Amino acid sequence: MQNLSETLQKISTDIANASKIHQRKANSVQLLAVSKRHPESAIREAYACGQRAFGENYAQEMLEKAEALQDLAIEWHFIGPLQSNKTRPIAAIADWVHAVDRLKIARRLSDQRPSHLKPLFICLQVNISEEESKSGVLPHELLALAQEVVKLPNIKLRGLMAIPKAETDVELQGETFAKVRCLQENLIQEGLVELDTLSMGMSGDMQVAIAEGATIVRIGTAIFGMRS
Ligand SMILES: *Cc1c(COP(=O)(O)O)cnc(C)c1O
Repeated sequence: MQNLSETLQKISTDIANASKIHQRKANSVQLLAVSKRHPESAIREAYACGQRAFGENYAQEMLEKAEALQDLAIEWHFIGPLQSNKTRPIAAIADWVHAVDRLKIARRLSDQRPSHLKPLFICLQVNISEEESKSGVLPHELLALAQEVVKLPNIKLRGLMAIPKAETDVELQGETFAKVRCLQENLIQEGLVELDTLSMGMSGDMQVAIAEGATIVRIGTAIFGMRS
């Protein structure tokens, strides 16, 4: 097995190569290491290799890890569905929240963001494949939500996040990511000109996501191996 340092190095190289092939600007794609259900020791090891951005999708797990790893300058991304009874602690420790899909949650995050911290960066999750079981705002409801969210003072809307329906056909994967990019372009045309983030692409579809404009790829398994 490769060690973690070599694995991170290889993924960074894959990101750089995909960026180049698809004429993306150098360093325009950030690697988010998704550490959910992996131990703190794995995060420490990745941190020692230079990785700074980590993603978690269970609130309680992220809070415990953030507490235990206070000595590290980690950029914490909460990428899971967020219940309203967990917004307060998440607003206090996260740098980013990726999966906001309701105004109520956005309002709570803004109200509860401690005033000594910079605004919390957020992405709106879009239910891009329009699956009934999935969270995320539906595409036709996105503009109205985004227009309310940008008014909130202590959060800053950075862009969109999506988890497309599982799909092995690369062409279809690409079409779905392209839809997310179009939605973002539409919001920009509607006046939300500061949006600059597309959080899309995981271990299995990172290359396609980069081709279609991802700026944050959320990679778990390819870095840390299978989750128990
Ligand atoms: C677990 C998870 C990932 C990482 O998925 P991998 O397939 O392990 O790379 C990315 N995004 C979200 C929202 C996740 O929950």
